[in-house]
Amino acid sequence: MAQPELAHPQVVIGGFQTISCTRSDLADLMVEDCLRARDRRDSWLSRLVFSSNGQGVALAGRSLRFMEIMSKADVVHADGMPVVFASKMTTAPLPERIPTTDFFHDAARAAERTGLRFFMLGAKQEQNDAAVAAIRERYPDLNISGSHHGYFGEDEDEEVCRLIRESGADVVWIALGKPRQEEWCLRNRERLRGVGWLKTCGGLYAFLAGDAPRAPEWMQKAGLEWLFRLMDDPKRLAWRYLWTNPYAFYRLVRYTRREALTGARR
Ligand code: UDP
Repeated sequence: MAQPELAHPQVVIGGFQTISCTRSDLADLMVEDCLRARDRRDSWLSRLVFSSNGQGVALAGRSLRFMEIMSKADVVHADGMPVVFASKMTTAPLPERIPTTDFFHDAARAAERTGLRFFMLGAKQEQNDAAVAAIRERYPDLNISGSHHGYFGEDEDEEVCRLIRESGADVVWIALGKPRQEEWCLRNRERLRGVGWLKTCGGLYAFLAGDAPRAPEWMQKAGLEWLFRLMDDPKRLAWRYLWTNPYAFYRLVRYTRREALTGARR
């Protein structure tokens, strides 16, 4: 079935059509969509919910394929503060940043209240297990219908999707790193008909498992979370941030459109 139109305005920021809404609006949308999907399991095409940050904006400039995949998303929200800063150039500035790491908790509380089921896909087995245990402890009434690590080949997609479908999941959280997680969602969307949301979540499990510390609030607000992550894990992230930041800045200035769009994405 055709998905209902989005009620919130959208703005093109750094080349991505980005939703202008609050964290709690997004959690409400998740609940509405998942309850609708339950009524129409056979026909509901999962909403693809991706996030935008400097890394993604820069990656889309280098990879036409990634740009195309991002344009297929139903919802893109501002994960990074620079995206929120850039939105100030538009007629619908974003009310706040929606980091997936924080949004997960809004979503978990909403799911506890409404009985939605989460499937946790991605990361190494150990980290996935630790993240699931941490979620269970913090949200005892949340139904985690299943989990699976993220180190499997394309030939195992069918089997992983079968597990997800049979678990009765409403939301699949997908942590496979950019751009693999976005590609995975697009490639398996048909197989996962009936699942309300496919939500990419990058490094979320590392935070939940306590393997990665979170930046202090002031750094998050100043748009410096990347600097904190860089200091924490320079070997892995130095290239990513030092190369991508100036390019992302250029693209955020160059590919942000002043006029907001309303309603559905397509
Ligand atoms: N990952 C995975 N399978 C892969 C590659 C990565 O499950 O083939 C996981 C990895 O273990 C990590 C997550 O994907 O938990 C990506 O984390 P990253 O910090 O790169 O995400 P981001 O910085 O994009 O939020």
